[in-house]
Amino acid sequence: MNKGQLIVVSGPSGSGKDTVISKAIERLGEKAFLSVSMTTRRKRGSETDGVDYYFVSEKEFLEHIENGDMLEYAKYGSNYYGTPAQPIKDRIGNGEIVFLNIEVQGGASVRKLIPEAVKVFILPPSVRELERRLRKRATEDEEAIQKRLKIAEDEMERAVEYDYIVINDDLDDAVDALISIVKGQTSKNDNINEIIREVFSHV
Ligand code: ADP
Ligand code: 5GP
Repeated sequence: MNKGQLIVVSGPSGSGKDTVISKAIERLGEKAFLSVSMTTRRKRGSETDGVDYYFVSEKEFLEHIENGDMLEYAKYGSNYYGTPAQPIKDRIGNGEIVFLNIEVQGGASVRKLIPEAVKVFILPPSVRELERRLRKRATEDEEAIQKRLKIAEDEMERAVEYDYIVINDDLDDAVDALISIVKGQTSKNDNINEIIREVFSHV
């Protein structure tokens, strides 16, 4: 049976995590999957509930935490974001490659729980370009963009905690780099299934 892989991807908002991961998944095929997180933030116009996120109230989110449904969670800005545990357990057990697009506090939690997870940090080529991408994406108002840029400063200092850094300047190059990292793990993580089973034994 194929070994499952857990790939944690972090990086400042606007660095291109979603774009790079979704293109890598397209190329890796049906065995690769992006975890759908739960969040209390408002849905953007282009987003679909259950596809981009599970959009829930703060009350629902806190209930899920209390029930032990989350692998990890964190507060980013004024909203909660978290990774439902059960789909990760199932897919890793099934030999799939699972990507988590999560911020740095969540990344640190996953590293503690599952040291074998591969951690990738996506950086923009410059802060100016990060700002340009956030504005061009036009999903946040000016105040929220400023808040995200402020958080980005702290996040970028934590890039050193990651196994790999990918600079997302040319998109195709960044996708190639992420795919190489994933493929490079094939001969590692021999016991990931065992570790995942242990970590999720309560789920
Ligand atoms: P994140 O998930 O990190 O917040 P996104 O994937 O939403 O970032 O990307 C932010 C914006 O930058 C999007 O509008 C996306 O189309 C654009 N983008 C992503 N990668 C590149 C790139 N290599 N060059 C130019 N624009 C990019
Ligand atoms: P956005 O609002 O742009 O979709 O996401 C904001 C931040 O939340 C991004 O850095 C993204 O990686 C992070 N994020 C998304 N889902 C999760 C999650 O399940 N857990 C954690 N810890 N962070 C998440």
